[in-house]
Amino acid sequence: MSKLVETLKLVTPSPGTSRELKAHRYGTPGAGPKAYFQAALHSDEYPGLLVANHLIALLDAADAEGAIEGEIIVVPVANPIGLGQQLNGQHVGRYEFSGGGNFNRSWPDLSDAVYEAVRGKLGSDEKANIALIREALATEVAAMNVVTEFDGLRKALLGLSITADMVFDLHCDNEALMHLYSSVRHTDLVAELACDIGAPVSLLEMDPGGGPFDEANAGVWWRLAEKAGEEFPIPAACFAVTVELRGRNDVYDEMAKADAQGLFRFLQRRGVIAGDPGPLPAPVGELTPLEGTDVIRSPGAGIVAYCKDLGDRVEAGEVIGELIDLMADDPTKARTPITSKASGLFFTRMNEKLVRQGAEICKVAGKEPLEHRKAGGLLES
Ligand SMILES: [Zn+2]
Repeated sequence: MSKLVETLKLVTPSPGTSRELKAHRYGTPGAGPKAYFQAALHSDEYPGLLVANHLIALLDAADAEGAIEGEIIVVPVANPIGLGQQLNGQHVGRYEFSGGGNFNRSWPDLSDAVYEAVRGKLGSDEKANIALIREALATEVAAMNVVTEFDGLRKALLGLSITADMVFDLHCDNEALMHLYSSVRHTDLVAELACDIGAPVSLLEMDPGGGPFDEANAGVWWRLAEKAGEEFPIPAACFAVTVELRGRNDVYDEMAKADAQGLFRFLQRRGVIAGDPGPLPAPVGELTPLEGTDVIRSPGAGIVAYCKDLGDRVEAGEVIGELIDLMADDPTKARTPITSKASGLFFTRMNEKLVRQGAEICKVAGKEPLEHRKAGGLLES
């Protein structure tokens, strides 16, 4: 048994208050692959909180049997700042009330600083380069300046994740099928994970833009590889994935337990935990480019009435729902069709049905990159 539960204190934001993170640590650093999990970075995304709880129970049992072969860290509550944000009795996450912006955007790109630290020390041995870069990454994170409580949260979470081989950021959408976001460079791992956890949608990108947490961990590797050139081999040594655990209200013990078991099987398959995960389950969906996902905006202000359900296949131009103009004089002329530009799977929608002009209300995952999605900034606000 080697489990440790570490408490990390955040800086006090206002007199008399303090928050903390808990990190459940398993295994021995360096003994094998390192996996990092965190739940609810946006704070009002509850499925991952329950999945992490089940995952910790599974890992505790594996640890008691001496089955942890690598290193695993689970932060079951990644954002105590956002978790405390209440307005008129409603929990309001995603953006920091204190002005820090979207909790999952603008994470730092450490590649310039790390490259300065390692240039001249890189060689032709890939493993040696990985070790050198991980050391420099840890040093850079340790040197991050903390002014605000949110700065401290970023530093603490990155300090736990930045040297990992695998980073799992557990989020959810509003109403959604389970889906994954990751880099196209890790297509094979995404495909395997999608099978193990039964994700019907996997969205792959070269560069999502916006600086999400997964990319802060993974992207530094290919940026360093570009800077260093072919003479110095640097692999994409961190597989980071954002796991969208369906919709915000999909919080059930049996579902969360099955999700945790899927993640556990993936860790077995990747040699982090001993034991037979069994044969890889058959895929239940497809891998598609994030540029092929149409993020559909409301054409006006009003009520949305959907005529398609999540999981339905739609063709480009097909009507998904209608926007109803509540201020129209004639109700027979009050409806504007809402259509998808993508042909594919209707996989997310907002459960708020009163929508504003331009609001991002639903998504369809298609195979073909869409012209209007190629300009970058692939993530919603
Ligand atoms: Zn999220």
